[in-house]
Amino acid sequence: MIPGVLPLCPSVTPLERISPSSFQTSIECKLKGAWNANRAPTLLPESPNTRLGRVVHKVIERIAQSPENSNFFERVWNEELSEQEAQMRSRWFETHLVPLAKMCTNFELVKKRCHLECDNIALTQDRSTVRPGVGATEREKWLQSQDGKIGGRIDAISRRNGETTIIDYKTGVWFDSREAASDGRLFPENNAQQLRMYAALFYLNEGIWPTSLELVALNRKVIRIPFTPEECLSLLRQARAILDDMNCAIRKGGNFLALQQRLASPSEQSCKYCRYKPACESYWVSKETSPEKPWPLDFRGTIEELADVYGGSFLRLRLNSTTNDFISIRGLNRKRHPALNFDEDGELIVLGLVRSRSSDTYFNQGAFTTLYFVPYQQLN
Ligand code: SF4
Repeated sequence: MIPGVLPLCPSVTPLERISPSSFQTSIECKLKGAWNANRAPTLLPESPNTRLGRVVHKVIERIAQSPENSNFFERVWNEELSEQEAQMRSRWFETHLVPLAKMCTNFELVKKRCHLECDNIALTQDRSTVRPGVGATEREKWLQSQDGKIGGRIDAISRRNGETTIIDYKTGVWFDSREAASDGRLFPENNAQQLRMYAALFYLNEGIWPTSLELVALNRKVIRIPFTPEECLSLLRQARAILDDMNCAIRKGGNFLALQQRLASPSEQSCKYCRYKPACESYWVSKETSPEKPWPLDFRGTIEELADVYGGSFLRLRLNSTTNDFISIRGLNRKRHPALNFDEDGELIVLGLVRSRSSDTYFNQGAFTTLYFVPYQQLN
């Protein structure tokens, strides 16, 4: 990938299986689900809080596997933190979000909670019992349907006193008391649906239903997710149907634009946080043909003017956009946005802007603002 240049559209190949999380993504948009399941490289920054949640997840996983590591919490934490920050530095559009300690407001609190959780795991984990089918808690357990078409890894399965609980740790989330006291319906429904799918996969593998399903936050608040066997099995049927649909659309062939149109479901909701949208022609066409909808603040067009301000420390960009005529963006710089360094003819894609209070056509850059240059030969 050349920093700042939009790469060619990621290809899409038929999917062997669908995971509970890819299923939820595919309900919103099959193209996003297919790119996700194909592990296509994403084109926009990940939220620092999600990255921090991943650090926590990895640290807890390592301590659960080797409880003696809890004595070296600081070292394990720093290793996982460095790994996430190295990944961020390797992506030109994410380097400015390092270090996470500066970007995540709750960094120290999250680290402290993670340490407490690890101490707790080390105290309670009887390693001799951590064996499939026998153990107190199995972590990162793979579950799949008999035909192999639906499968995924659940965070933990706890078996105690004849009761089985399937657990999904939400390490990047802090439940407040209102959510924790609820019956699970207040939490984003897609997390609950994923757990219900794991319950059905567990049933297909073990022949019994789990006693309970739990979402557990880092502050140890627990939300119990209600479920019925019928709704869980129905979700698996829907997942199998969506997988067959997607594969049928993918195998139809034709050019990639036609494939995108068959799979994509652009909407303000589904596209808002989609990290493939720079390369999604269906997104841009929908935005341009229905500009009255509250689309995210993303634009594409040609550069009308690029001027130095504040003695050259920042740039002001005037873009002849395909939706808003002329827009102005302040606060950019060439180091963070290599797309501004190309002299050739082409188009500029600007994503994740923040509206200025002074005018409808003035914008500022935010933490997630990302720019791509699209050379003309790539447009034709
Ligand atoms: S930008 Fe929208 S339409 Fe395109 S893949 Fe993402 S969610 Fe789907």
